[in-house]
Amino acid sequence: MIQFQEVTKIYPNGVHALKNINLQISSGEFILMIGESGAGKSTLNKLITREEKLTSGELFVNGIKVSTIKEKRIPQLRRSIGMVFQDFRLLSKMTVYENVAFAQETIGVPINLIRDNVFHALKMVGLESKVNAFPKELSGGEQQRVAIARAIVNRPKLIIADEPTGNLDSKTAWEIMKVFEDINKLGTTILMTTHNKEFVEHTTKRVILIENGSILRDHQRKVRTS
Ligand code: ADP
Repeated sequence: MIQFQEVTKIYPNGVHALKNINLQISSGEFILMIGESGAGKSTLNKLITREEKLTSGELFVNGIKVSTIKEKRIPQLRRSIGMVFQDFRLLSKMTVYENVAFAQETIGVPINLIRDNVFHALKMVGLESKVNAFPKELSGGEQQRVAIARAIVNRPKLIIADEPTGNLDSKTAWEIMKVFEDINKLGTTILMTTHNKEFVEHTTKRVILIENGSILRDHQRKVRTS
């Protein structure tokens, strides 16, 4: 579903942000991407969403050849990806319902279908009871749940979560992780950037370590059977 083949990204200022990346992510995987600030994690995400163009190599995402994608097909690529950010990025003048519904409206979902889809997404994140609240009336964890509902409501194949628990306390971070795990169990691929050491220490997920533009480590710890 995501395939980087010898991908290099050099920014116009000469920074080699990614160097000869080879990476394959299969449908349904849950990946934690770690690495110090400046390592190249955001650049990797931005190549997937085609916010940045790669310099050389090939990249395929959800069946689309992103390395040579035409401008007019970029919206189709982006519709297949849900985004979740550290700072939630909710619209403050809209209610929870409206924030999630807005994602459906922008892709032209018929109005009679939107309500069911929004309630379904809010149920997935455990927030149906807050449909009429405004973001400022919610805790950080609740706001992130709304952002996750917005990311899944259009049923993307892939979710890119960029440090989604960076602004949350440890307990809330684990609750948010559980929401992502529930979504992943239903088949959505998740690529999560994180600095959360607890997640990495207590996981059996595939962990990709990026350092200085290269993949330094890529492994999955086996589940203990004894
Ligand atoms: P991370 O997300 O791991 O912190 P980034 O992908 O943001 O790392 O950055 C990787 C490298 O690319 C850094 O050296 C950063 O300064 C550089 N960089 C990021 N974005 C740009 C840009 N738009 N123009 C020039 N250099 C950039």
